[in-house]
This record gives sequence, C-alpha cells and structure tokens, in this order.
Amino acid sequence: MNVPFLDLKAINARHAAELKAAAARVIDSGWYVLGDEVKAFESEFATWVGSPHCVGTSDGLSALILALRGWKELGLLKDGDGVAVPANTYIASILAITENRLRPVLVEPDEETFNLGAKKLAAVLTPDVKAVLAVHLYGQLADMPAIAQLCRERGLLLLEDAAQAHGAHIGGVKAGAWGDAAAFSFYPGKNLGALGDAGALTCKDAKLAEMVRALRNYGSHEKYKNLVQGPNDRLDELQAALLRVKLKHIDADNARRREIAARYRREIKNPAVCLPSVRAGEDSHVWHLFVVRVPDRAAFQQRLLDHGVHTSIHYPIAPHHQQAYAQSLGHLKLPLTEAIHREVVSLPISPVMTDAQVEQLIKVANLA
Ligand SMILES: *Cc1c(COP(=O)(O)O)cnc(C)c1O
Repeated sequence: MNVPFLDLKAINARHAAELKAAAARVIDSGWYVLGDEVKAFESEFATWVGSPHCVGTSDGLSALILALRGWKELGLLKDGDGVAVPANTYIASILAITENRLRPVLVEPDEETFNLGAKKLAAVLTPDVKAVLAVHLYGQLADMPAIAQLCRERGLLLLEDAAQAHGAHIGGVKAGAWGDAAAFSFYPGKNLGALGDAGALTCKDAKLAEMVRALRNYGSHEKYKNLVQGPNDRLDELQAALLRVKLKHIDADNARRREIAARYRREIKNPAVCLPSVRAGEDSHVWHLFVVRVPDRAAFQQRLLDHGVHTSIHYPIAPHHQQAYAQSLGHLKLPLTEAIHREVVSLPISPVMTDAQVEQLIKVANLA
C-alpha cells in the first residue's frame, strides 16, 4: 500500500462541488480584487480565531512582514531593534524580521516541544529587544500563557507565526488570539489551505489593522491617496471565496488529524523513534506535521519508503546555516537547533488518510 506524504488532490476533491460553486460565483461577479469575498472571509476568519480584526494578504510571509512593518509605521519599532525568535523556525519567520531591517535574536527552543519557551526567551531579552515572534511550530502552540505574560511585563510586542497552527488552542484561546498580532498562511498544504497562495493577519489593535490594510495595497488608506509606501500584497477574491468553503471544514479536519496523531503516539513503540510531546493538553496541537526524532534519519526514511511510506523533513537546514544568512548569523552555535535539523522526520498526517494507511505506517515504523 502506498502512503503519500500529502495528497492535496484528495483533500480538495472532498469539497469539489462547493469549491467549484464558489469559483463560479467569483468568475461571474466581475469583481476580482478586494471585494465582498475578501471582506466576508476576513470577518468569518476573525470570528473563528476569536480576534477583533483580520486583514487578508497575498501569503503568510507578507502577513508576517506587514505586521512588523505596520508597527514600524506606527512608531512602535525602528530599524535595528531586536526581535526574539526561535532558532529552529521555518526561514519565513526570519525573513520577515530582516526584510524590515530589524535584528533576529535567535533563541534555542524548548527541548521537549521544539517550541519557544519563556525561560530561554527571558535569557535573551536585552533592552534593545523590542518584540517577540513566537512560532507555533508543527501545529503546537508555543507556551503562550507564559510568553504573553513575559511580554506584558517587559512591554514587548508579541507577534505569532500561526502559519502551521490554525485552530490550536489553550483554554479556548486560539492561535492568533494570544499576541498583539498574528500571521497565518493558507498555502495549499497548511491545515487551512487555499488553492494557491494566501495569508492573513489577525490583531487586537484597530490602528495596526488599518495600517496593514493600507500597506497591503500600496500604502493607500483611501483611493488615490498614499500616506505610506507599501507593496501589493492583497488577498484575491477567488482565494477568499475558496477559503470560505475550506473554513467550514477545518474543525473536522483538525479532529481527524488529532485522531491519527493519538494512534501514532499510542502505537508507535520503536525505541529508536522519539515521539513528539504535547505540553498544554490535546487541544493545543493541530498536528500540521507529525515530527519524530531518529538518530539515523536516512536509514529510517529509506526503510519506510521501501514499504511505500513517504516522509519529509521540516527542515533539513537551520536558518543560521542558510547561505542567505552566512554573513549575519552563520557564526552562531545553536547545538539543540542543529541536532533537531539533523534528526527530525515528518510522518504523513492528513485528514484524508485512511485507517488502513495509518495502520500501515504504524506497522512499518515499528520494524526494527
Ligand atoms: C508556511 C509558513 C510560512 C510562510 O507562509 P507562506 O504562505 O508560504 O508565505 C511562515 N511561517 C511558517 C512557520 C510556515 O510554516
């Protein structure tokens, strides 16, 4: 039996009729950019997250960039300010910081969850660090109760990279509702995936929402008037209409992901496979990725592949080891981050996996 890493075709085929009707509605409307579909999606997504404001963007990276850019335009950050960020994040989190001429302050993650923890974060907070970018890596909320409290005490801005964590919550407070602002990606493979690129910012402050709304559209608050200089980072009507369909199914999809993760965690018993741990209750994780740590990664992946199970790596190279950051971050020694990048393997997990596929994976992962 073949177990693909991710079957996007199957994921969207479940909603083909609804998606085609939504696309037809946009095609027939004659209005394709910044219209009623974007407005409706922003309002529906803000309600679902539990955040007062949502601004659709072209992708997740632009949402991250514009959140920080908005704070700069509002005078809350300036060139050279430090932004604390987990060292083992996806490169986009770091790009958003450097793109704004801010300084990434890399923090080693918590050893158990691979997420940002309050203790190691507190240790890097020098006076020039003005903001924290917490990443909910693999779908698990970072330790947000402690991180949010620390940010309040120190007067730091708190941005969430929620690109992998749509719907994860602690005590009913979801990813995207903890920080001053949060960025979501709706890249097709994410838990809430568009059929192309799309993203969104959620935030608490109406002024930031207004600024990012202008920034995504050339810096224009009002047609033909530009108060600030901005890019074109708009969410389009077609993706917004498709996302409105997908949003209706995200809770069921996340429930199925949790069911599969629970079986993996119960039934994978190979001592060489270090299973992911969940810190703040089952609801705090939506299992965008199911990441295990194995000492001999290449052999493990090959063995699974020999039995038809496709795996992936998130991520093989740490940001500070990327050529793009050789000059500025290449000198850093981050042993835990480096070990994580050497040893992690992502097992297939998705709402369209069948029980038979789940069982096949468990059987193969347990082979010595
Ligand atoms: C996917 C992702 C992003 C970037 O989102 P795009 O929509 O691809 O630009 C940012 N951060 C993390 C953690 C991601 O997984």
